[in-house]
Amino acid sequence: MPRQPLNQLNTFKLAINASELVTISSIEQLLSLLPTDEPVLVLGGGSNMLFTQDYAGLILHNRLTGISITEDQDNYYLEVAAGENWHDLVMSCAEQGIAGLENLALIPGTVGAAPVQNIGAYGVEFADLCQHVQAIDLRTCMARTFNAEQCQFAYRESLFKSQRHYFITGVRLKLPKAWQPMLAYGELKTWSADLDIMPSSLEVAQKVMGVRQHKLPDPASIPNVGSFFKNPIIDAQRAKILKDKYPAMPQYAAGVETKLAAGWLIDQLGLKGYCIGGAAVHERQALVLVNQGSASPTDVIRLAKYVRAQVWQNFGVNLEPEVNFIDATGYSDIDKV
Ligand code: NAP
Repeated sequence: MPRQPLNQLNTFKLAINASELVTISSIEQLLSLLPTDEPVLVLGGGSNMLFTQDYAGLILHNRLTGISITEDQDNYYLEVAAGENWHDLVMSCAEQGIAGLENLALIPGTVGAAPVQNIGAYGVEFADLCQHVQAIDLRTCMARTFNAEQCQFAYRESLFKSQRHYFITGVRLKLPKAWQPMLAYGELKTWSADLDIMPSSLEVAQKVMGVRQHKLPDPASIPNVGSFFKNPIIDAQRAKILKDKYPAMPQYAAGVETKLAAGWLIDQLGLKGYCIGGAAVHERQALVLVNQGSASPTDVIRLAKYVRAQVWQNFGVNLEPEVNFIDATGYSDIDKV
């Protein structure tokens, strides 16, 4: 069986191979490959994947392209193919004066990956903008359209994350023309307080890019997959106990529960820069694990487990990975590797 290198298709740049790799550029081509008995994995930008070993199956690399924009009196409607780059879409809209996506600038990955983990940043989530998601069921080859409610969006969660047998082909977004920038979060709040007039969508996008570029390593120069862990949501009673013990701990309301900043917890333990083999906790943003150049999957796994164990021992808080663990046959789990 030939081995297809995936080192350019995972932003951790791990030296991993797959048995078979096909670039999908049309739905007809996708359907011609289905159904199959082989393990199948859908890959977009590879910016949220940790391959723990070589993949013994078929990788479908989503490169479906095309964007169409329509409008009525109140809204813009964007029909976007899933293989388009998310950040390019955000910037192209902001440059055309189509507002609403700007807070989600510089989130890596494809448009098709956006609904899977319901990407969100600085108070805006994909779910807020989504009208529907189109997908092919890999088991039945049937095309399906899911409205926003059917997508079961939650914090970094969706139907497509809990049921991995969908190949997302496109999304439809609705962006109201009556737009107000969302500037409630830290850096955006401080920045906008000093402005005389309301910033444009493009100005907000550029500010978000500046904040992210300052804090986060560019995967093109320091391989990484962005936030490695999700920000934990815990019950309010437990949060109060932690707040009494650590008054500086950032806490945010999340419905009746409380959201903590995973990066803060890791930072408090002095783990910035901590490394195992070629894998390290990033020096500026503790939530990001990086490949210093020669990391093996085992190095990354050991580092992630160490960080998680330290946070558990010191704060009694369980960190769940945001990154997907992929073993030889598909989605796995930090507790299984
Ligand atoms: P940050 O701004 O230091 O925030 C850390 C945590 O505090 C996040 O859980 C964030 O909530 C929460 N938070 C901060 N200010 C808040 C406020 N005013 N109200 C409510 N919650 C607040 O986080 P960061 O790591 O530098 O990331 C910046 C932004 O990018 C965050 O919004 C983060 O969620 C987002 N991000 C998203 C992804 C993704 O979609 N996969 C990956 C990386 C980062 P939220 O998580 O609800 O924003």
